[in-house]
Amino acid sequence: MSPTLSSSLSSPWFRTSAAANLVDSEGGLRPTIFEEMTGLAQRFDAINLGQGFPDTDGPAELAELAATLISNDDAAARRNQYAPGSGILTLREAIARHQHRHYGLQLNPETEILVSTGATEALAASLMAFLSPGDEVVTFEPFYDSYAAVTALTNATLVPVPLTLSDAGARPDLERFAQAVTEKTRVILLNSPHNPCGVVFTQDELRVIADAAAAHDCIIISDEVYEHLTFGSPHIPIATLEGTFERTVTISSAGKAFSMTGWKVGWASGPAPLIAAVKSVKQFLSYSSGPAFQPAVAHGLDHGEEWFESLRTALREGRDILVNGLREAGLRVIEPEGTYFVIADVSSLGVRSAADLARLLPEHAGVAGIPVEVFAIPEHQSEFSSWIRFAFCKRPEVLHDAVARLKDGLPRTAAVLKAAAAGDKA
Ligand code: PMP
Ligand code: GLN
Repeated sequence: MSPTLSSSLSSPWFRTSAAANLVDSEGGLRPTIFEEMTGLAQRFDAINLGQGFPDTDGPAELAELAATLISNDDAAARRNQYAPGSGILTLREAIARHQHRHYGLQLNPETEILVSTGATEALAASLMAFLSPGDEVVTFEPFYDSYAAVTALTNATLVPVPLTLSDAGARPDLERFAQAVTEKTRVILLNSPHNPCGVVFTQDELRVIADAAAAHDCIIISDEVYEHLTFGSPHIPIATLEGTFERTVTISSAGKAFSMTGWKVGWASGPAPLIAAVKSVKQFLSYSSGPAFQPAVAHGLDHGEEWFESLRTALREGRDILVNGLREAGLRVIEPEGTYFVIADVSSLGVRSAADLARLLPEHAGVAGIPVEVFAIPEHQSEFSSWIRFAFCKRPEVLHDAVARLKDGLPRTAAVLKAAAAGDKA
């Protein structure tokens, strides 16, 4: 006989799913939006501009290094057994050098760096380490799906501050932000460069956020997985602002930096007491992972400058193809300053719900995208309901093909949606 499972907010698994908008109106569980849209793309053989992963692998040199560490003839040179709980020292040292070279941050690899199973695990461990029931987490909205899911698991409350979307771009509303941070706020969860809006926060914006954190004695968790993927102003880690390092856990990942999203090698860095707290949770999640990938990532961080530059150039080209194509298709687009993603407003197609449109696009237009509203709490979804996110981390020919498909596919799909809505009314 199965155990009784309560589908109510008293169950952690249910709270997590509900917070990530994964419970349907009948109480059934939906897959994540990434799984759903990748599934539809595969079913209809559509170009997958939904889930953000590149269609070109990162440096072959790194893959060869990892392959050798898995299957070297010399058993002593293989790395197939547990990595240390904090990550291999070689990688922690390379992360310290990287943070110093790029941002002038001085980190002790023994105590101030923790390797994780992707940024996802570092985020989960950090939120679980610091949040107690009733605490509040202030973040900008739309936000990456795991933020709400893990916050709900801890019984803390997510307080999202919507980004302002306008023709001038997506920007944080700092007045609304200042009002949202109170004595209940334990964590400010920042993501710059921002998924899905492509915002790169400015020094002045970061200063306001850092000052609010200091005034209310909050911890800042800064998700910087797209740190190298910027097209204009470079990324600024909030930990570099004066007086901010001591309260900040900075998180990044090799997935985006080296176009190896499946490797799931991430890391957290910050002052020793915060990193020790994060480690105390992280060691009971995966303990450790990726012993053959970690040395390859260390090599990449030490020798990656040319790679980062070529990645940025390729992504900027991809961004331009998609942004121009979507504009030619008549959509309002917010030009991203960084990341893999562009968001576009579908209201000019006479469609109100980008989510309904996104679910039909793979079949009727041969392209998949992600509705932006899934990255918002239910009360705020209407602010984002006409926006759809497309990923441009694909080869130029694939993006040109996607644009060609979208130009007739978007109006065709909108017509299908409107006909279905008219049929429902009849
Ligand atoms: N944060 C953001 C903003 C992301 O977009 C992603 C996914 N790419 C992650 C965290 C998770 O990163 P990882 O795949 O390294 O776990
Ligand atoms: N970060 C990726 C995105 O935003 C997807 C990660 C995932 O599939 N969970 O598209």
